[in-house]
Order: sequence, then structure tokens, then C-alpha cells
Amino acid sequence: MATFRLAAFQKLLERQPIEVKREADLTSDYYGTLVFDRPKMKKYLSKDSYKAVIDAIDNNTTIERKVADGVATGMKAWALENSATHYTHWFQPLTDGTAEKHDAFIDHNEMGGVVEAFSGKLLAQQEPDASSFPNGGLRQTFEARGYTAWDVSSPAFIVGQTLCIPTIFISYTGEALDYKSPLLKSLNAIDKAAVDVCQYFDRNVTKVWANLGWEQEYFLVDEALYQARPDLSLTGRTLMGHSSSKDQQLDDHYFGSIPERVGNFMVDLENEAYKLGIPCKTRHNEVAPNQFELAPIFEECNLANDHNQLIMDLLGKVARKHKFRCLLHEKPFAGINGSGKHNNWSLSTNTGVILYAPGKNPKGNMQFLTFVVNAIMAVYKHQDLLRASILTAANSHRLGANEAPPAIMSAFLGTEVNKMLDLIEQSVSEKKMSPEEKTSLKLNIGRIPEILLDNTDRNRTSPFAFTGNRFEFRAVGSTANCASAMIALNSAVAEQLIEFKVEVDTVIDKGVKKDEAIFQVLKKYIGICKPIRFDGNGYSDEWLVEAAKRGLTNVTSVPESLDGYLKKSSKELFAKLRIFNEKELEGRTEVEYEKYMKKIQIEARVLGDIALNHIVPTAVKYQTMLVDNVKGLKDVFGDEYKTLAGNRIETIKEISEHISTIRNKVREMVDARKVANKIENTRELAGAYDKDIRPFLDEIRVPIDKLELIVDDELWPLPKYRELLFNR
Ligand code: ADP
Ligand code: MG
Repeated sequence: MATFRLAAFQKLLERQPIEVKREADLTSDYYGTLVFDRPKMKKYLSKDSYKAVIDAIDNNTTIERKVADGVATGMKAWALENSATHYTHWFQPLTDGTAEKHDAFIDHNEMGGVVEAFSGKLLAQQEPDASSFPNGGLRQTFEARGYTAWDVSSPAFIVGQTLCIPTIFISYTGEALDYKSPLLKSLNAIDKAAVDVCQYFDRNVTKVWANLGWEQEYFLVDEALYQARPDLSLTGRTLMGHSSSKDQQLDDHYFGSIPERVGNFMVDLENEAYKLGIPCKTRHNEVAPNQFELAPIFEECNLANDHNQLIMDLLGKVARKHKFRCLLHEKPFAGINGSGKHNNWSLSTNTGVILYAPGKNPKGNMQFLTFVVNAIMAVYKHQDLLRASILTAANSHRLGANEAPPAIMSAFLGTEVNKMLDLIEQSVSEKKMSPEEKTSLKLNIGRIPEILLDNTDRNRTSPFAFTGNRFEFRAVGSTANCASAMIALNSAVAEQLIEFKVEVDTVIDKGVKKDEAIFQVLKKYIGICKPIRFDGNGYSDEWLVEAAKRGLTNVTSVPESLDGYLKKSSKELFAKLRIFNEKELEGRTEVEYEKYMKKIQIEARVLGDIALNHIVPTAVKYQTMLVDNVKGLKDVFGDEYKTLAGNRIETIKEISEHISTIRNKVREMVDARKVANKIENTRELAGAYDKDIRPFLDEIRVPIDKLELIVDDELWPLPKYRELLFNR
């Protein structure tokens, strides 16, 4: 076997499971030990500081400097007791991941030594160089300063020996350079808009939270095999590899028993997650071999997203400890399922009501229908924005590939909710409904969760599906920062709720009673957003035709999809809610175009290198063996050799053809890159990479995968799919 691949296998054979002990018998005994949560604040802060912080968390008040000093002192004391030596502002720039710069808790003392120090100033704000992070031209190097500022609503935590303070990251002039600050703004917007609408139904509602429950999918691959695949280690996915004879055909991995090495990894991961207060709840094998899923109990959206960012980081770290590599890429292997991250989203009130859970009484049910109809209206109006928020180079391999929703946005509601909406649509007015209809509308809704939860009425092919007490935004990719999707969704729904309120009030002002006014506006909306409602099979070809007839958009090109951010309706939406001004939106979209182009560029380079340095020489070597063999036959048998060599001669020719195809295509691809790289406009550059370079990735792969089947297994340099997918 080729030395690299062989060495990887030898390491694999020596693997021993790493024993993992749970931190304590009961999870509740160590849950949150590394989080500066409310009980710890209470213990380590003065009464006044504690009150000020809680007030800031619950009511968005600002924290004065004096108070911040008090908080810093308490936080430092707790951190030092937990062996922390450093602190960092932990933020989420527009890259794939989080950023941190550690500073030691030390300052000079008068004696020439040092003392552990930390102040309110250091807690509240820092100034990292913003020009080194993606900013879409918002920051020029000569005015590079950016700010990180403490997000009081997400608690500080300790990782390793560092106290991490969740922060937002903005430019000196206030533009958002991260995911968190616009997420917080969108959460404020939906809070306000939803409270106003809730007031129609319950005067006691004063606060509405958006909830997020993410389901993180990932693959595990043995570290030695991973390292023998330069494509995996440099791009996160395999750029070549013939499919394994057996992969997911038998559906024998999904929910199967968890292999021991993986089990140990999961226990270790959960140990770490629980200490950080991440409420991991569900773990199981996913559809593809070596694919797994982790889901926590849902939390308030901002905190849930911080926790998802932390989990992605932990997945990587803990996997390494167990000699695995965790693949978060949306499509690490062609031909088998990729990974997504369903974003379960709902709204809940300070009165303890989940607004997407059907009510227990007629009033609650009307409120439920109000929020459902406004959500799907928002999806209908902003389908292009929502798609822009989830489509990336990697995620584009999944969408529409019969494993994830297509690139068409639609909403699944289930038979019962649909019946209710149809009922409203067909009735002339609330008053003119028959008594049976009224009962059905107002009371039967209470039965919906039972119907949905028994799973008979769930649809896995819908990008936006109602599942009993929430919507699942299923098109989100596994590497995504959920904030991207959540900013779009929260904002779209907030705008819609504001509009709804205005319309209902206008009808009320005309002397119509409140209930009837709500009914009338809902009826109108149900008519308008009908095209977005689809309960059928989202993977089917018929749906593509039907969706086009309905006027729904279907965009699979990433740059084109990103254009959705710059549509008039998106710009207006974000400006109205003060989430992004036009400049910010353009800057962020620029970052996304650039990310797309760079990812394709890296893949193209890596593929070109491997094709020329690994594959072609291997093929030549094998071909030479065949040629020598044929020559030998000729020496021994003379003219008879032709019959004896038989199809070996064909194989020699076939190898030559594949080699030339690879060589020619790689050359063409390099030339195409040279042409594209002259383009200065980022959008056009991304478009060129999409149209002129990306297709080569598939075209070059084909002859390589064919060669993999021809060339002697002993010579093949790269671990094959069957090896990557079935060793654990
Ligand atoms: P499934 O795979 O059947 O969709 P999972 O149990 O894997 O379900 O994940 C469901 C996720 O949805 C969990 O994170 C769960 O906490 C979350 N969830 C449940 N109810 C809500 C809700 N009302 N709002 C937001 N998320 C929710
Ligand atoms: Mg789900």
C-alpha cells in the first residue's frame, strides 16, 4: 500500500479507546460550574452590582462604570478560584468561528512585581484591530480600530485557563462587524413587535423572547486517515473519492448503536458542554456512516447561538483528544448525506406562553393563528433574504440534493393548521361562521400538537416546517453561525408583526371590533401568502414545476442567492428596524461574495495539486506496470501476446485517456482562474468563480474517481471512502 495510506492504517490498528469518566454522578451536580451565572453573580457581586447586572439582562438597562468595576472584581475573584490566568473578549467575526485574544490578569505593583488585576474598563470594552477581520470594505487599515463590547445578556465562562467574556464587535463608527450585534438588534425588534401584538390578547405580556433549539450534525473521521487526505484537511471535504460499495443504502446507521470510541467521545464532549452550561439533550447516529447528531434543550436565541458556537469549538477539540477529526462541513462526502443544522425557532412570553404552541382556550388559539400566519407571511415576503442567509459554498452541495430542502422556500403547516387557515379564508367574517366552524377554529386547535407530535404529520422535506410548538428552519448548514439565519428570520417576522398591528388598528379605527378586525386581516394575509404553503414532497420534480407556477423563487447559485441581501425589500426591512444600514448590508454581502470566491479558489488549487502530484503519478506508475507486463508477455510468447494481454492493453489506453483529461482540465481550470482573478468587482469575481471555475471541480473529479477503480489498491495514495467512513 502507498506509504502514506499504509502508515495511517497502522496508526488506526494501534488505537485504544480513551476511557472517559463523567465529572460527577449527577449532571446537575456539575452543570454550569464554569459559567458566571446568576447564583455565582449573587455570591461574588455586591448587592447593588448584582441588581444592576440582572436589571441590564432582563430590561436592557445600561451598566454604569462604577458598577462595571464591581462586576469585574467579582468576576476576577471567581475566575482566579477556578484557575483562570487570562481573560478574553470572545466574539463572532464574519469568519467561520469565534475570535479571542488572551490577556493575562496581571499588572505591575509598586514593588516591581505583578498583581492580578481586572477592571470594569477591561471588562466592558476593548479595541482589537478590525482590519484583520472580514469587513467588506467597511474598515480601511488606516482607520482600523474596532470595538468589542460586553454582551451582558450572555454569561461569562471559563475555557481552559481563560475567562471568556461574550462581546459584540463593531467598528469605531458603529457598524456591525460580527454576527452577535445584529442578532441582538433583531431580538429587540421582535420582542417589541411581538409584545405589541400580544397586547391584543393578553395585557400582561411585556416581554417576548425568541427561542432557538439547534440540531448539530457532524462526521467523525479517524485522525490518521484524515491527515492522509490533504483535501479533507485543507477544505473540510473530499474533492475526490469513488463511492463505497456500501454506504447508507441499508439505513443501518441511523439511530444505530453508538460505537465505543464514539461513545467515549460523546461522553467527554457532554462533560465539557455541561460544565459550560450547554444543555445537551439528544445524541444519535445520523443517516450517513460515521455521521452523528447532537441537540440541546432550546434556549433564548442569543444564548443558544453562543452555545452552538462553543459546541462547534468543543467538537473539534474533544475529537482531537480521541484521535478523531470532527467534520462540520455541509458535504464532506459526495453521494451520501451531508450535515445540516435545523434551527428550531419559536417565541415565548414573560407570561410563560409559547406563542407557537396552540392555545388552551379560544383566545389563545386566535393568538396562535395570528403568529403562525404572520410568520409564513414573513417567509413569503422575504424568501430571497432567508435563502441568502443560509446559502454558502458548502451548503449549496446539500440543498436540493434529496437530503435537504430544495433552494425553494416554502412552509409546511400540517393538515390541522391548514384546515384552520382554509376555514378562515373561506368564511365571510368571524360572525358569519357557523357554530361548528367556530368551535373548530377556536377549540380544535388545542389538539394540533398531539396530532403533530405523533409524527404522522411531519414533513422532512420542507425548509420551514411547523412542528407542533415551533418552526424548524431546516435549510441552515452545519458550519453556519445560526445568527445569520436568525437575524433574517427575526427581522422578517418583526417587520410583519409591526405591519399587522398597523393594519388591525386601522380596521379597529373604522369601528370594527378587535376580534373581527384581527380575523379580517388574517383572512387577507392567508390569501396573499398562499403560494408559500406547501405540504407535499419538497424533493420531487413536480414541486419544482409547481413552485415556479406559484411564482416562488428557486436560486441555486450562491452569488445570485446572496444578491437577496441587496434587494430593495431586504434593505428596507433592515433599515426600518435599524439592524443594518445600507452600507453595513453592502459590506456584509461583500464579505459573503468574497468568502464564496475564496472557498472555490482554495478547492480548485487543492484539487489541482492533488490531481497532478498524487493521482497522475500513481496512474503512470500503475500504467508502467501494465506496460512492463505486456512487454514481458511479448518477450515470452511472441505474437501470441496480444491475445494473452487482452484487455490490459485497453486499460493502458484508458489510463492514458484519464490522465490527459485530468491534465487538460487542470490546465484549463488554472487558465480560467487567471482570467477571473483580473476582475475587480467582488460580485462579478464571485460570479466568475461560480460559472467558470466551480464546474471544473466536478469535471476533474470524474476521471480521478474512475482511476481509483482501475489502479492497483496497493498503489492508491489516498484513504478511500470505505476506509474513511467505516473506521471508528
Ligand atoms: P427532531 O429531530 O425530531 O426535530 P430533536 O429532538 O432532535 O427533534 O430536536 C428538536 C430541537 O427543538 C431541540 O433542540 C428542542 O429543544 C427544540 N425545541 C423544542 N421545542 C422548541 C420550541 N418551542 N422552540 C424552539 N425550539 C424547540
Ligand atoms: Mg428537527
